[in-house]
Amino acid sequence: MQECLDTGWVSSVGAYVDRFERIVADAVGARYAVATVNGTSALHIALMLAGVDRDDEVPMSTLTFIAPANAIRYVGAWPVFIDADPEFWQMDPSRLADFLDRGCERRNGALVNRTTGRRVRAIMPVHVLGHPVDMDSVLELARRHALPVIEDATESLGARYHDRAVGHLGDVACFSFNGNKLITTGGGGMLVTDNEEFARRARYLTTQAKDDPIEYEHHEVGYNYRLTNVLAAMGVAQMEQLDEFVEAKRRIAACYADALRDVPGITTMKEAPWADSAFWMYTVLVDEAQFGMDSRALLRALGGHGIQSRPLWQPMHRSPAHAGSPPAHCPVADGLNRDALSLPCSVGLRESEQQVVIARIRALAAR
Ligand SMILES: *Cc1c(COP(=O)(O)O)cnc(C)c1O
Repeated sequence: MQECLDTGWVSSVGAYVDRFERIVADAVGARYAVATVNGTSALHIALMLAGVDRDDEVPMSTLTFIAPANAIRYVGAWPVFIDADPEFWQMDPSRLADFLDRGCERRNGALVNRTTGRRVRAIMPVHVLGHPVDMDSVLELARRHALPVIEDATESLGARYHDRAVGHLGDVACFSFNGNKLITTGGGGMLVTDNEEFARRARYLTTQAKDDPIEYEHHEVGYNYRLTNVLAAMGVAQMEQLDEFVEAKRRIAACYADALRDVPGITTMKEAPWADSAFWMYTVLVDEAQFGMDSRALLRALGGHGIQSRPLWQPMHRSPAHAGSPPAHCPVADGLNRDALSLPCSVGLRESEQQVVIARIRALAAR
């Protein structure tokens, strides 16, 4: 970062932007990466690359942070909310199949939602909490229906699906380097792909679609979405620590799992047979009847002892911000929203601090 300041290359052109893009592309095994100001803007551009247009529909995970649903609205399209699977809490491929195989039909070469009459244009699985979606099933559906797959991998850098990196499973993927993510640049994002034309167009659209840099000629409405060199320098330094960070997350997760597994009413987070989770967040389920209090009461009890915990997001099919989207029945996500609580798990969490959290939960359970 000092070098950026000393040389004056502080803005969206500079050697560190290229280096950061290279290091992230290499980490996931992708051919191209394009840095952006944040993960949400990367999702916005990815939808444009996939050809998603006004009044199209995009099935996506209902149990997620709101950004991908918002990005779908930015291009004038509509999210179709797919329920989570009860075991690993990711987009349930069997629910996705219900929608695509039974809820849609082919009309004049396009896949159309039977209920709304709108065209389905892409699939957007969100790998939540550091854990991969069951992608082979999603990719098989995508292939069968000829739909591009946009991975929202913003919470799952460093995770693997079988022997493949999350973010290198669909046609294009997006990462975030917000302050709460595993790797941060304060704010930042990245779009990764093997598709050369996608990469070229992403670079173009994120730099105001500038065609002639001398005469300032533009043939399209573009966006100012490029990351700055200063922040990219931070990203390069952060990426050098990625493996250590993932290791720390996995160590914290294993410690919680060991210590809380036998607590009545607590269900610890699972890792699917296909997954090497990055455990971005460590989340447990609280069964009110067995534990003696519900997740929100536990949140308050921990808070009273200076321990911060958090529920998962309001599922998107319940979000007033997306009330205009097709209504969806997602009982699994509703149950997870009721029962889930995320525990302290930042990479800087000390073992002694984690033991305090564990002891407090065990003491509350004993009561
Ligand atoms: C963090 C996050 C984003 C977007 O990231 P920003 O960099 O904050 O724009 C997108 N999707 C999900 C699921 C996220 O958790």
